[in-house]
Amino acid sequence: MSENESKPEAAIPECPLNSVRRLGSRHLTTMSRRSNRASHASLAARTRPMRSKITLLLALATLAPSTAFALDLATHKPDRLRLEYHVPKNPAHEHIYNKLREQRVLERLTEFAAPFRLPRYVLMKIEGCDGTVNAFYEDGEIKICYEYIEYIYQNTPQGPVVGGLRPEDAVVGPMVDVVLHEFGHTLFDLLEIPLLGREEDAADLFSAYVQLKVGRDEARALIFGIAFLGRKEIEQSMAKSLELQEFAKEHGLPAQRYFNVLCLAYGFDRELFKDAVTHWHLPPARAESCEDEYETFDHAYQTLIEPHVDAERFKSVQARKWLQFEVQK
Ligand SMILES: [Zn+2]
Repeated sequence: MSENESKPEAAIPECPLNSVRRLGSRHLTTMSRRSNRASHASLAARTRPMRSKITLLLALATLAPSTAFALDLATHKPDRLRLEYHVPKNPAHEHIYNKLREQRVLERLTEFAAPFRLPRYVLMKIEGCDGTVNAFYEDGEIKICYEYIEYIYQNTPQGPVVGGLRPEDAVVGPMVDVVLHEFGHTLFDLLEIPLLGREEDAADLFSAYVQLKVGRDEARALIFGIAFLGRKEIEQSMAKSLELQEFAKEHGLPAQRYFNVLCLAYGFDRELFKDAVTHWHLPPARAESCEDEYETFDHAYQTLIEPHVDAERFKSVQARKWLQFEVQK
């Protein structure tokens, strides 16, 4: 969905695969992380011929800040995500503010981020966004709008849905997803993770990948909880005419994001996520490549991110029960 739009309930179409017209964005990010990267000028310096070993060493020292290996890992520490609730600007969000604090929902969700060693503290604040339904990352700070949490609650199923999904799964999955998606941007920025492709796709996959690493039942509920909200977004986007500029956005189209997550999960474990192909409509032609897609992402994660994870703390995340939340109405 795009910001400042109302979110009318839409009837579930027979097949959400064929008639997507207008597609929106969620979880925006800025490009501030580029400021941490090597300039084009310093990269161009690599192509100049070296006159001596001393010149070479000097040149490498100049390039060092652009590489992950140059990060001072000794200063990186786990448990660096801090949470700040702001009083909602909109009185309609007060019940969300109160419930989130009473149930310590976001405090619990930030535990997902605790094992990742970071060079600095990161603030995650929850605040009103004047009607914008979204979440953001910029310069070491995550912002999640009350409007986005409200949107998750509004789209909670009223009873058990096909595929064994419970109402609470459709709340917790998207809540974990928005935190981890924005935390993915945070890692890419602060750890200077190289990306070959669109950052928004990488953030989606990072979030889903981490959720796949918890217990089997938990992972299944979280991923299909995300899929439930993703399908709602597809339905809402299908109700509007598609404009060419929608294809130029930083984010993939809602249907693409939906299938990317399902594909990663199916590639992770075909048996556990076999419903992705049946109930959740992942096309068999795409499903064939999902194991390769998972292995590609897994290789990137193991190479670039795993060295920054505190293994013992991550084990405690994996052992947690993430679905014991009361569903807010
Ligand atoms: Zn994003």
